Amino acid sequence: MPNNSNDEKPALSGLGLPELLECLKASDLAEYKIKQIHSWLYAKYAGSFAKMTDLSISEREFLETNFKISALKQLDCQISKDGTKKYLFSLDQSDKYVESVFMKFQNRKELSVCVSSQVGCAVGCKFCATSFVNFKRNLTSQEIVDQVMSIQRDNNVRIGNIVYMGQGEPLLNTKEVIKSIKVFNYSVGIGGRHITVSTSGIIPGILELAKANLPITLALSLHAGDDELRNSLMPGVKIYTIKDTFEALDHYYEITKRRITIEYVLLAGVNDTIDQAKKLAKLISKLNCHVNLIPYNPINEISDTITFKRPSHEAQEAFKAVVETSGRKVTSRLERGKDISAACGQLHNKYLVSN
Ligand code: SAH
Ligand code: SF4
Repeated sequence: MPNNSNDEKPALSGLGLPELLECLKASDLAEYKIKQIHSWLYAKYAGSFAKMTDLSISEREFLETNFKISALKQLDCQISKDGTKKYLFSLDQSDKYVESVFMKFQNRKELSVCVSSQVGCAVGCKFCATSFVNFKRNLTSQEIVDQVMSIQRDNNVRIGNIVYMGQGEPLLNTKEVIKSIKVFNYSVGIGGRHITVSTSGIIPGILELAKANLPITLALSLHAGDDELRNSLMPGVKIYTIKDTFEALDHYYEITKRRITIEYVLLAGVNDTIDQAKKLAKLISKLNCHVNLIPYNPINEISDTITFKRPSHEAQEAFKAVVETSGRKVTSRLERGKDISAACGQLHNKYLVSN
């Protein structure tokens, strides 16, 4: 096996067991030894081969020479007053960055990580910091999983909940996202019920995810009650009408029997009107779903073209009351990490500006 420089060495963290067996197949390591390595990586969060003490010294040296633990390098970590941590990682052999957020929600006992699925995003939502980072590439399943593993190693804690709500559109990278969910299930030990994939509404991706029939939660970022307003806020998904998108969600529910989440970022004077609330209430009344209202997290420092504002508390409550007439459960999202640019894409943008 070649003696590679550190950047060229293959990383092992983030690979599922079949991939790990494949990657180490040319070595002389017995299968049970590879299973031990798998357990060191996933059950014990080992950050170095030296820690893998049930391998012989020569086996550890062999791994050290030819492989590395992680392909992600931690460039920055901001810690919020509420304990939320926002990480910026660089990817192997590139100047590309991804963000991940580590959170503790008061209403959940598990610790959560918000993962990125792409570098940048091509959907171009007007209120989202990631849309100001040009789309560069899809992340591999390994890079998605290793965001969580890196955070587990850094904090020496077990993560029990994953949300695909970081940078990028997961359903424009569906194959790697599905693969990563399976690694979260089998290697990291996180069940489907503790995994949420959020999409701007890429219909072919929703159908592919339905076909995979994983017991995860699917969240649709809707953000408007009619196509005209939605297309102006989310230009990258205007090829899909709300009607067709809801049909795809119905299909997803029929296959998986998992209740859908509808996400709606409230923007003052834009989509928080009573008229929009009525349209939203009508749309959701036919779908098995619950609604999550998200107060806009200001990103106006990124560009002076962004003029959105967060609605007042009263406006948010008035909107919620109308949506509740649908009979669906409506919640307001708890905000985490407000003081540390925890909206997806914000830290990435800051880093690009300052470097
Ligand atoms: N691309 C996917 C997942 C990443 S975005 C999607 O759009 O669903 C995760 C969520 O954060 C989405 O609901 C998105 O609309 C929301 N979001 C983006 N920018 C925001 C901001 N400035 N304030 C509040 N929520 C925001
Ligand atoms: Fe992309 Fe989601 Fe941001 Fe829209 S909200 S630009 S889909 S990451």
